[in-house]
Amino acid sequence: MDAPRLEILEHLPQPAFAVTVGDDGFEFVLANQAYLDIIGWPPDQQFGGPATAVLPDATLATYVEHFMRAVVARSVVGFETDANGGRRSLVVDCSPLFDSAGVCTHLIGIARDVTEQKRVEAALAYHTRHDPLTNLPNRVKLVETLADSLLRTRGGSLVGLVFIDLDEFEVVNDSLGHDAGDALLTVVARRIERVLRAGDSIARFGGDELAIVCNGIKEIDEVRAVAERVQRVFDDPFALDAGDVFLTASIGIALSNGADDRPDRLMRDADAAASYAKSRGRASIEVFDEPMRARALERLEVERDLRLALGRHEMRVHYQPLVRFDQSEVIGFEALLRWEHPQRGLLSPDAFLGDAEDTGLIVPIGSWVLHESCAQASRWATESEYETPLVVAVNVAARQLVPEFVSTVEHALAESGLPAESLVLEITERVLVHDTERIGGVLAGLCALGVQIAVDDFGTGQTALAYLKSLPIHSLKIDRSFVDGLGESEEDAAIVAAVVSLGHALGLSVTAEGVETPRQLSELRSLGCDLGQGYYFARPQPGEVVRALVHRRFQWKQPA
Ligand code: C2E
Ligand code: CA
Ligand code: CA
Repeated sequence: MDAPRLEILEHLPQPAFAVTVGDDGFEFVLANQAYLDIIGWPPDQQFGGPATAVLPDATLATYVEHFMRAVVARSVVGFETDANGGRRSLVVDCSPLFDSAGVCTHLIGIARDVTEQKRVEAALAYHTRHDPLTNLPNRVKLVETLADSLLRTRGGSLVGLVFIDLDEFEVVNDSLGHDAGDALLTVVARRIERVLRAGDSIARFGGDELAIVCNGIKEIDEVRAVAERVQRVFDDPFALDAGDVFLTASIGIALSNGADDRPDRLMRDADAAASYAKSRGRASIEVFDEPMRARALERLEVERDLRLALGRHEMRVHYQPLVRFDQSEVIGFEALLRWEHPQRGLLSPDAFLGDAEDTGLIVPIGSWVLHESCAQASRWATESEYETPLVVAVNVAARQLVPEFVSTVEHALAESGLPAESLVLEITERVLVHDTERIGGVLAGLCALGVQIAVDDFGTGQTALAYLKSLPIHSLKIDRSFVDGLGESEEDAAIVAAVVSLGHALGLSVTAEGVETPRQLSELRSLGCDLGQGYYFARPQPGEVVRALVHRRFQWKQPA
């Protein structure tokens, strides 16, 4: 076949070229412009010559190998290659032409530009293995990475998995919106990436869960060190458009026990350890051990039962008197949640509050407590022969503090007929101080209703004291841990004295929690504390039992 007749290639819409086959090898003789464009052939340079002169070394071997195959097979051979310095991807169909004697004289190549298709394929492969928000590998990729790492542990090293579960992340999502939640997750991911060791890899495991695969581990302390570095990442607040947000993480660790270990075992155990960390009060690191698995199962059961508890009327409110020291009289009650579990009996909040918060169930349960307590206090007020109304103090969890909460409270007051000033909402110092920017509007709305705000567990949250001034609060509740040591510890006495004088200077009343002994009571009175609450006066009890106290306005004797 003559070269001129091959000029038909010029009219092919697809990139095409022709090669002559001879004893000396393969020689390019013709190519249409589409082919020249795709391989990036310089316009000022004459096309043609030995394959070695036309093709770059990197692709030459691929071409020649498939050219030969086409000649030998006497049929079309397709192959994939790249062109123009790797910028384009081609699929080339190479057909041999034979002369009348059956000798191959030419090879015709018809190429297809599959660059775009390859890009899409790569993007798809990336997407199925990465989280689009943080750009981190996702769960699918994590499993692959873990499996890989486990295979490579034959040398005797181990694989550690660090599971990071963000605490109260839902609070941010609920109150600031999902965009803020997304932004926060991204910042968290970037911060964690910076503290990883070379060779370790991080993935986004789920909503607010991240995981780190640690390779080449000899002992658990190395993994623990990684977890500790991750935890320190949360020391500083995260700056969002909506303001600074403090976050903590519950971290679980699991270590492989040999190359036969399985990714799902490691993931399950690290997850269980993180759950355990969460149930132990969050912001901590736990290493997996066997009993943890049982506890994880138990937690699942609690969660399942908790979803049904409200509907089955298993929740109860117990009331504990608040006593004014100067007149030794009951001025009101703190409402404390209990769960009458069908199998496990009466549970205190410590047993289920963490789960209620994690699952968001605290929001409906919390409004139920609010309605119930307001209704109870209102009944006591109408039954009581005393003028001064009783107050009822209700605990409010971080997740409840979203804008709608103001109307929930308004509704509870309206429905029960309880005057707003008889309702105290207890918010822990930690939530009040760390999340101020987030809950500022909610607090203002609550104050506008006329309800009172108490800072619960005061002394545990490291408040900058001057900061308290800017908050619309009415009272402080000194945490039980400081009251415990009264009469024995000089330091506790000094702290209580300082809190009392600070509170008074700010015009706040001060309540001591956990008063158990007459000694503590007399110490508190001499320190000028206003109110107390504790087993010394009464344990939290059901409304019917407490009712006697309301009517009698029980007077406590001063200790001898
Ligand atoms: P808290 O608000 O600090 O409540 C005081 C806790 O101390 C109560 O535990 C109470 O029973 C206990 N206590 C009272 N006097 C004494 C005492 O003299 N000695 C000792 N050792 N303890 C005393 P409880 O009822 O188990 O509640 C634990 C925590 O659960 C509460 O701590 C509060 O933070 C939370 N909580 C309770 N009810 C609710 C609720 O309805 N909603 C929310 N969000 N949290 C609640
Ligand atoms: Ca409280
Ligand atoms: Ca408290």
